[in-house]
Amino acid sequence: MSRLLLIGPPGAGKGTQAAKLAEAYGIPAISTGDIFRYNVKNETELGKLAKSFMDRGEYVPDSVTNDLVRDRLSHEDAKSGFLLDGYPRTADQVGELDNILEADGLALDAVIQLTADTDEVVRRLLNRAIEQGRADDTEEVIRRRLEVYEAETAPLISVYAARGLVIMVDGLGAIEEVTARIIEALDARTSAN
Ligand code: ADP
Repeated sequence: MSRLLLIGPPGAGKGTQAAKLAEAYGIPAISTGDIFRYNVKNETELGKLAKSFMDRGEYVPDSVTNDLVRDRLSHEDAKSGFLLDGYPRTADQVGELDNILEADGLALDAVIQLTADTDEVVRRLLNRAIEQGRADDTEEVIRRRLEVYEAETAPLISVYAARGLVIMVDGLGAIEEVTARIIEALDARTSAN
């Protein structure tokens, strides 16, 4: 398993699991949210642009995000595989990722759908607001992020399901338990193929 996507609502634990899976499979975890936050912190041009969207819980425009991912995937460490966390999030981004991979004759191995109910994700995000002080973890912005996720990103799961790529994993429980669940599901898939 070397070309993986992680999809799920804000607060499902994608970032935490992405780090664990990247280690387990020896591939880089690439989080568009982390890359944007790094740029915001360093006040780059990209950061200034991204911040205006992120602070409102809106998605950064596709053209900007697509260029960023295209560039990141061209780096040497992503040649033998990657785990994308938080990309693609729109239908346009799905098309772009297909183009990027097809140009090199590559394809995705699996899409991990991490589930968590709304009450739990809101609770986690409000808790993270206290612990990490992320600018987009206020109650109002959290609500908007969840709406945008439902409208733009949740429908993408059926696109990948139609390709037979989706494995659905319950994101509730201890971090290690969830990681073990994902690895088990990915391994079951590999041996079935
Ligand atoms: P979460 O999934 O918990 O909301 P992320 O760290 O993945 O957090 O993303 C934070 C913000 O970064 C998003 O709300 C959005 O503004 C921006 N962002 C991240 N990934 C994308 C993407 N693929 N397309 C557009 N915007 C993105």
